[in-house]
Amino acid sequence: MKKTETELLKLLGKRPILVWGARMTGIGFLRFARKHGIKVAGIVDSDPAMEGKRIFGVKVSLPSSIPSFRAAHKDLAVLVAVSIKEDEIITALRKFGVKEDECVRYSGFCGSYFTIDIVGTCNLRCPSCAYTVPGIKNPVGLMSYDDFVKVTDKMMSEVGLVSHVCLYSWGEPFLHPELPRFIERVHSLGVASAVSTNLSIESAEKIEKVIMTAPDYLKISLSGYYPEAYESTHTGGNADLVKSNLYRIKYFLEKHKADIFVEVNYHMYRNNIGEDLKKMRGLCEELGFAFAPCYANVTPVERLVDYCEGKVDEKTRKFFDLLLVGVDKGLEIAGPYNDRRCRFLSNQVNINWDRSVPLCCVCFDMKTATISQDYLKEPLDEINRKKEHHANCVKCLKYAIPPYLLGVNQAAWKKEADRVIS
Ligand code: SF4
Ligand code: SF4
Repeated sequence: MKKTETELLKLLGKRPILVWGARMTGIGFLRFARKHGIKVAGIVDSDPAMEGKRIFGVKVSLPSSIPSFRAAHKDLAVLVAVSIKEDEIITALRKFGVKEDECVRYSGFCGSYFTIDIVGTCNLRCPSCAYTVPGIKNPVGLMSYDDFVKVTDKMMSEVGLVSHVCLYSWGEPFLHPELPRFIERVHSLGVASAVSTNLSIESAEKIEKVIMTAPDYLKISLSGYYPEAYESTHTGGNADLVKSNLYRIKYFLEKHKADIFVEVNYHMYRNNIGEDLKKMRGLCEELGFAFAPCYANVTPVERLVDYCEGKVDEKTRKFFDLLLVGVDKGLEIAGPYNDRRCRFLSNQVNINWDRSVPLCCVCFDMKTATISQDYLKEPLDEINRKKEHHANCVKCLKYAIPPYLLGVNQAAWKKEADRVIS
């Protein structure tokens, strides 16, 4: 057993644990807890989309229920399992009277969160996405299973505790014919797996095989219910195919009794916040999937830097008209949160399909953002060291792009979106 696992188990002892964080990091801890017989009293998350959902059979509640958990469980410890916004949560816990020695920061035991982009392409060409940045032509390919085994072996040997592995970054993982095998490999290491998809996937058989392997978290990103809105921002996708696949997933979940947390991530634009939003929310309620609307933003860093420097092509400019929060306004909101220490840099390891390592998950151009040609050939410490003082970060930080991409200060985003709608 690795040292950090031992330390965490010792710290948690036999205490009942309340987990704050219902997304991937929290799910990663739940898999860890199940493996080690840790008693989980409950899960809380501030996102209303999560309320009432069940993860590994444990119900998700809002943080306002913390006092009742504390009253019901003597010796309760609250484990904060998030990849960002940890300090804000600790501050919120203080307000609930949770003392320092009753809090555990899971991040203190998981040095890095891993994202392995097993597919180096996508079947869609969304105008908000890195794949449509003019002038960036990354190589296209799939990670081999052998490479995946080597990469994950190295990952396990270099990091004390791996919470979870995301099998996607920019690419569409369902395009990989061996996706189920990759998921099984992650689970065989005692680690949780996450898959994100556009679900505009033609093969029902492929979907069923993935559901049978039960990735712990399945995120479906879309932007509308009806074809007109959806296909304007998920270019090349098919809205009706996506909807029929949502039903298929529900059917396969029940058929195979698969325990998967399914979340629909709904990108809000000016043209999909009326009937489209209402219908998709209703469909998710019917199917029992979490529904998480979010204001659409623009990626990657390279496109945003170009925009800030006055370089924007006509197609992109036209797409910007659909945003509820324009890029200028979004960057203005982000300004006061522009920490010198970028949170995309501090605790993430991203590995491309060809084993190269990008600076961060929001830079896309492999010509300028690659910091290691081969994850297998360099120690992780050395790779992390190369991230420091990277040229890309200078401009990115200058324009407050990291907090923009993190979507900090959602209240201000909402205020701006409400203003635009009215
Ligand atoms: S579906 Fe996702 S990865 Fe594919 S082009 Fe659209 S935003 Fe990019
Ligand atoms: S500052 Fe920008 S380019 Fe650098 S790691 Fe953060 S998000 Fe990536």
